[in-house]
Amino acid sequence: QKTLRLILGDQLNAQHSWFTETNESVTYCLFEMRQETDYVKHHIQKVIGFFAAMRNFAEELNSQGHNFIYFKINDESNTQSLVENLSKLVKDHAIECFEYQLPDEYRLDQQLSEFCNSLDIETNTYDSEHFYTSRYELKEFFEGKKTYLMENFYRNMRKKHEVLMEGKQPEGGQWNYDKSNRKKWKGKPEIPHYKWYINDVSEIVSDIEKADIKTIGRFKTSTFSYPVNREQSLEQLNYFLEHLLIRFGDYQDAMHTDQVYLFHSRISFAMNIKLISPKEVVDAVIDYYYDHKSEIDISQVEGFVRQIIGWREYMRGMYWTLMPDYKTENHLKNTNKLPDFFWTGNTKMNCLKQSINNSLDNAYAHHIQRLMITGNYALLTQIHPDEVDAWYLGIYADAIEWVQLTNTRGMSQFADGGKIATKPYVSSGSYIDKMSNYCDKCHYNKKEKTTENACPFNSLYWNFLDDKREVLGNNRRMAMMYSLLDKMDKSQLNSMKERAASIIENPDEY
Ligand code: FAD
Ligand code: SF4
Repeated sequence: QKTLRLILGDQLNAQHSWFTETNESVTYCLFEMRQETDYVKHHIQKVIGFFAAMRNFAEELNSQGHNFIYFKINDESNTQSLVENLSKLVKDHAIECFEYQLPDEYRLDQQLSEFCNSLDIETNTYDSEHFYTSRYELKEFFEGKKTYLMENFYRNMRKKHEVLMEGKQPEGGQWNYDKSNRKKWKGKPEIPHYKWYINDVSEIVSDIEKADIKTIGRFKTSTFSYPVNREQSLEQLNYFLEHLLIRFGDYQDAMHTDQVYLFHSRISFAMNIKLISPKEVVDAVIDYYYDHKSEIDISQVEGFVRQIIGWREYMRGMYWTLMPDYKTENHLKNTNKLPDFFWTGNTKMNCLKQSINNSLDNAYAHHIQRLMITGNYALLTQIHPDEVDAWYLGIYADAIEWVQLTNTRGMSQFADGGKIATKPYVSSGSYIDKMSNYCDKCHYNKKEKTTENACPFNSLYWNFLDDKREVLGNNRRMAMMYSLLDKMDKSQLNSMKERAASIIENPDEY
């Protein structure tokens, strides 16, 4: 039976059972398409990274004897649409059976199931064999429960997959070492320099230019540091194990002007396009930990494992539980536009300048920059979640909707009314100062609230609480902040609200 099997750009899993043996009657197809480059404006390095990894993948599997049809972005036979490309191949190659791996994105899932309905040949779907959990496992886990508490899901994952367990108890006696993961980095301990890959992506860059794909962000050959094949992904993982894991937990939330990556793994891009699986990453971390137990503390390892078997699987499960309605939720009824400086980094607020420039330069920012700098600012200035989503989905190399949307609209913008986060992640300047050195060199004064050079986050924070009292006032986790707000001198609150209004109205002047 002549079979056509589709591989999507984020399904580059050479370990998939599809590839255990070659089969003459099976042809794989993989397309670079305007449909995918244009649904949001992506960072140039994200497009380069995807195309480079896709080309490498097809080439490698082709050399192992698998038949591949690969459409480059400027190929004449490329219609730039998934359905049209597939329809054409089915017809031209007299295909008798069409198969695909379940996509992680709702949009593509819909498109492919509609396409299959339109075909009169046999069609089959397969699991992508990447995640620990199946698509609806989280939904079943929380069935009948009132909340979707990540911690409950995470503990269950630890038990089910026997990760860091001693019998039925968590290794070390605690499930969670979050409290010890909050150190500020002050230049020490030293962070070993990265070994950058040297990937020649010049052909891809010229293809992107020729196709006139509109992108955001900056690109210098020297800054392109994404692993674009399996070997580089494993190299990156090993680098993390040998040099960074030892301090990962301690400095997980730290931010610093001299360090873009600190002790973070930068493994998200490789994992999200499935060059490497979460189980491989977690197993490698655990093995390394057991081999180096005298040097590495459990808190560093647990902190990392929680991100992968906890947060990452949880976000995917929440996405499939709550889509498609999730994409339009706007619980706080925010309506403002993102300031221009999100695309230029041109602001006097040093924390934003640093985090946005990291994002523009590297298509990367670590979690706390995304959550407590750019996300915090967007929420405090009450930006429409559609605007915030579009920026996050475009700018980060690792941004794919299942993980971007749940993190942005849910965790960061509280637009789901608390399904993912139990309270909004907002803070004044004092948190930013506690976790970074950004305030030291800022134009603004972190301690001031209403003066001309007062840190904008301070007035925005209290203004936000005051503006959103109706929806947040009854949230028990916000009670302390609302009681402080109630005790605040009214004239001081009014001055802060005036300053906040001016920042919200003219964000690019601050
Ligand atoms: P590390 O800090 O080294 O963590 C290791 C791994 O844990 C990551 O590679 C990632 O796979 C996983 N992880 C950690 N936190 C999360 C999380 N909250 N959700 C899911 N997985 C997590 N992550 C993405 O992969 N794609 C996104 O589009 C994305 N958008 C985000 C948007 C916002 C507003 C926020 C607050 C977070 C977002 N995250 C996203 C989560 C997190 O910021 C990134 O996974 C992380 O910064 C990637 O860098 P790293 O590989 O160095 O991570
Ligand atoms: Fe950011 Fe305020 Fe600190 Fe400046 S003073 S870096 S604006 S938190």
